[in-house]
Amino acid sequence: MSSEVETKPRRILVTGGSGLVGKAIEKVVADGEGLQDEEWIFVASKDADLTNAADTRALFEKYKPTHVIHLAAMVGGLFRNMKYNLDFLRKNLQINDNVLHSAYETGVRKVVSCLSTCIFPDKTTYPIDETMIHNGAPHSSNFGYSYAKRMIDVQNRAYHEQHGCTFTSVIPTNVFGPHDNFNIEDGHVLPGLIHKVYLAKLNGTPLSIWGTGKPRRQFIYSLDLARLFIWVLREYNEVDPIILSVGEEDEVSIKEAAESIVSAVDFKGEVIFDSTKSDGQFKKTASNSKLRKYLPGFQFTPFNQAIQETCKWFSANYEQARK
Ligand code: NAP
Ligand code: GDP
Repeated sequence: MSSEVETKPRRILVTGGSGLVGKAIEKVVADGEGLQDEEWIFVASKDADLTNAADTRALFEKYKPTHVIHLAAMVGGLFRNMKYNLDFLRKNLQINDNVLHSAYETGVRKVVSCLSTCIFPDKTTYPIDETMIHNGAPHSSNFGYSYAKRMIDVQNRAYHEQHGCTFTSVIPTNVFGPHDNFNIEDGHVLPGLIHKVYLAKLNGTPLSIWGTGKPRRQFIYSLDLARLFIWVLREYNEVDPIILSVGEEDEVSIKEAAESIVSAVDFKGEVIFDSTKSDGQFKKTASNSKLRKYLPGFQFTPFNQAIQETCKWFSANYEQARK
């Protein structure tokens, strides 16, 4: 890519702009991370149904982006994934194919899409790294989502080989923060537990943690992830993906994560573990050494602080929050 092309203003289209990660990128840009020669456009499903090829193409023709951060997806926690593997597979395959192909056809210079550490092989060695995505079957609980996401990496390689496109992807671990989906049945563990602790405190009822509390996760705060996404968009030039995660030493058990929420909300009631509910994948410990090679000094928000901020946001925005 010539420097002449690169000096032109950038028009960055963010699909999934109304979601957890999209809202975090919007905030980081608004707080001063946006550069003068960048125009940011955040779109949601009301702007275009990205499962529809014609609507997707019309969106790209309307905004004529030079760059795309592609976040839009059917997303959910363990229990939603277990119920709707087919929908996760089909919707995400459709959305990703429509977005990547419209980006190619309209001459977008760079696309950064979003994978997840839950798409890695279930039977694996640890820590997981970027080279291992296609090494074996994903966990059975979310195979639909996982295979659809893996295909983004395959498509990125193919668009690069056949057409020279710079389409890449990032692999975040479990994300949380303001604007998450706090629906207890459908959402991820932290927003689900934050909502459950809020209700348990309000109603004087016990807090039920699903599963044994023993599985382990690396959680990344959405605002940290947003800063990293912006860095990837501007600076990261590989087609191969990059894991965006806190270190392996920052992995916590579900029980420890729940304790952090209990403490942030000052919940004094009973806490029970419902082991009739699934534990899902025991762990998916990922290495962030590739990220650390590029950004050795990047500072992540401490987990307890990020939990406190998220609990505060949920309580202050209870009426409007997705739940
Ligand atoms: P989210 O809060 O559920 O937001 C999903 C976004 O996708 C929303 O903006 C939604 O728009 C949009 N969307 C869904 N279906 C659409 C469609 N058919 N057409 C157009 N837009 C559509 O999700 P998130 O947690 O921010 O996730 C963002 C990305 O990160 C996803 O690619 C996800 O796979 C990935 N990721 C998430 C996590 C996590 O823990 N949350 C972890 C790793 C990777 P509406 O608001 O209009 O419905
Ligand atoms: P995953 O990380 O992709 O497996 O998805 P989740 O974010 O849904 O986390 C699932 C893990 O959290 C499993 O071990 C669940 O048993 C545990 N968990 C405990 N309480 C809850 C809850 O209220 N909601 C969800 N989604 N998971 C919970």
